Order: sequence, then structure tokens, then C-alpha cells
Amino acid sequence: PPAQSASIPASAPIEGVGKVIAVASGKGGVGKSTVAVNLALALQKNGFRVGLLDVDIYGPSLPTLLGLAGRPAVRERRIVPLEADGLRVMSLGFLMEDDTPVIWRGPIVTGIIRQFLRDVDWSGLDYLIVDMPPGTGDAQLALAQTVPVDGAVIVTTPSDLALIDAARGLQMFKTLNIDVIGIVENMSYFVCPSCQSTHHIFGKETVEAEAKRLETKLLGGIPLDMAVRKGGDEGRPVVIAEPESPVTKAFLELAEAI
Ligand code: ADP
Repeated sequence: PPAQSASIPASAPIEGVGKVIAVASGKGGVGKSTVAVNLALALQKNGFRVGLLDVDIYGPSLPTLLGLAGRPAVRERRIVPLEADGLRVMSLGFLMEDDTPVIWRGPIVTGIIRQFLRDVDWSGLDYLIVDMPPGTGDAQLALAQTVPVDGAVIVTTPSDLALIDAARGLQMFKTLNIDVIGIVENMSYFVCPSCQSTHHIFGKETVEAEAKRLETKLLGGIPLDMAVRKGGDEGRPVVIAEPESPVTKAFLELAEAI
């Protein structure tokens, strides 16, 4: 159980990396990977050098979201991350055949995550953003025990269903002694393109209330926007595809808040 294992100290920091930030969620499908990618790109726009590590072992999305394929090279016994839009990226997706289900037990997952953190050449980064699998499990534990994590960002939608699990995810990071930077409210609202009125499809002000209850910050809200979904499916994230759009502005503000 996390509480017991949390006492094992994380080993040395990753050489040449400023901050390690985990992007996590309680549930799948709330937009965690989408936020991780666009947040990474927004941080880069703000002048930082950023890497993106996908440890969502059972559902690696970064290759699709970034339109990236190929096998990472090995140089001087280090794995060289692939590059997309200036980001350095590593994902299990690069090492798998399409459609192959991954059936691994915890120790294998732990081993792969250790390798991704220790054997990949991440040197020269201000931020390494880690896209976690949803929930509370082996990957979270493996990350916490392998490197010092500077902070966790929890992504949720305003729906009660997502929020209940987000709270659980947040508590787990606290148990692992990882600082929770705050909560991102994704799919926060929808602006109707015909009438310009705002609709709070998944609920209103629920995340703000929950953040207060959990003694953390609401870092910002990202609207439900067709351009976000389209950018993800086409492998051209909205921060790149539509740099002047309101949703890109929301991601830039989010990057400022971190
Ligand atoms: P998770 O990593 O939490 O499983 P994803 O990032 O894969 O979620 O997103 C799930 C789906 O929702 C994707 O199709 C993505 O394009 C879409 N999506 C995520 N955030 C938004 C948003 N703000 N507006 C529109 N679509 C979104």
C-alpha cells in the first residue's frame, strides 16, 4: 500500500532536469493527456525547455496526440527521446505494435517506468512533464520511488463523477509526499459558436469548491472546444494549430500558474 512504501526515499534527481511535474487524473477520459501535451507546449512558448514522458502504460496517447511515430535511437547506452514541435518525447507507444494490448504485472510496469526516467537522455530540460495513467496504482508509486517529483497537477472535469476520483488521486500524492500544485478544470464550459452563450455542461463552480475543501488551488479552466479534440485526433495540438484561439490563451495562463 502507498502509505507504507512512501517511506522509501526517492533516489537521485534526473541529471540535467529542472523540475519533474506529474499530470494525473482520477478517471480516464477527462482530458489528462490532452492537458499534459498542451501544457507542455504552453510552457515551451513561455521560454522553457520541456520534455514529455508518457507513463500511461496501458493507454499511451502521446504518439497520437503529437502525430509522432518511430523508434527511439540508442546513443552511448542512453535512449534518445523523439522530438515533436520542439518537445522531447518518450512513450511506450513508440515501442509497441499498434493494437497490441499490454498485459503486464506491477513489477514490469515499475521496471519500465524506472527505465524511462533513468535510461532516457533528458538532459537540458527545465521541465519534464509526466503523463500518468488514471487512478492510483503502480505507476504513481514507481514514479515517486524513482525520482523526486516537484509537483502534481490533477486534471478533472466539473462532473461529480470525475471529481470524486480526482480527490482520491490528490490524496494519494499527498500520501506519497508529493506536493499537489493544484487542479485543472478541463471541459470547464462550452461557448456556443452560434449564439456565443456559455454553457456549463458538466457543472459550475464544483471544482473550485472541491479545491477549497482539499486545501489546494484551482489552477485554471480549459473550455470544451472542438479545436482541442480535432487537434488531438490530427496530431496537431491546439496550442500549435490555433495559437491565437481563446483555448490556447487558457493553456498559456495555465502554464503561468504552474
Ligand atoms: P485522458 O488522458 O484523461 O484519458 P484524453 O486527453 O485522451 O483523456 O482526452 C479524451 C478525449 O477528450 C479526447 O478525444 C480529447 O481530444 C478530448 N478532449 C480533452 N479535452 C478536451 C477539451 N477541452 N475540449 C474538447 N475535447 C477535449
